[in-house]
Amino acid sequence: MRTVKIAGNPDPCPVGKLVCVGRNYAEHARELGNEVPEKPIFFMKPSTSIIGSGEEIIIPSISSDCHHEVELAVIIGKKGKSIRPVEAMDHIAGYGVAIDLTLRDVQTELKNRGLPWEAAKAFDTACPLSDFVPASRIPDPHELRISLRVNGEIRQDSSTSLMVRRIPELLSEISNLFTLEPGDIVLTGTPEGVARVDSGDILRAEIDRVGVLEVKVR
Ligand code: MG
Repeated sequence: MRTVKIAGNPDPCPVGKLVCVGRNYAEHARELGNEVPEKPIFFMKPSTSIIGSGEEIIIPSISSDCHHEVELAVIIGKKGKSIRPVEAMDHIAGYGVAIDLTLRDVQTELKNRGLPWEAAKAFDTACPLSDFVPASRIPDPHELRISLRVNGEIRQDSSTSLMVRRIPELLSEISNLFTLEPGDIVLTGTPEGVARVDSGDILRAEIDRVGVLEVKVR
């Protein structure tokens, strides 16, 4: 079972499910030629896709176009079903930095054929994840600079203020479908600037006050 660390908590936290949100920043939806969806798009990654800072990404041989997507990650601390938006922030234990690695060529083919995305999103090493900081340290998660550099060069540089659907609404919508339990993690979408990574690249993702995540592509 994969675990993550939450600062100040001596015990490693076992990870449950990873629920991800698609197209939650308008400029990113546009750069891939997609509309901002009327209803949120959710998909999942298994906990086996997680790697920590300092570990290596292994791109599956079925792809020649693996993209980085830096995202704010939310870890759940309190169980909830059909959580009301006004109560949603009480369910959050902490925040972290994630990269939602995506095999764009595989995903495009699956999308075009109306098939599920798992092969493009859920492979081993598809979810680099930092340690988490307690929610009490982040008074407003919707005003954080979020960025990603590849080999020192800035690729994504935006603000969590530009999320289409904010975290309370996301947790409410998600928990209408899936009970959220302690240790579940929600990835809140990526801003524009996604691009390909190649063997040897070093990815450094950073969210102000939340943390830094650095991984290398094997
Ligand atoms: Mg994403």
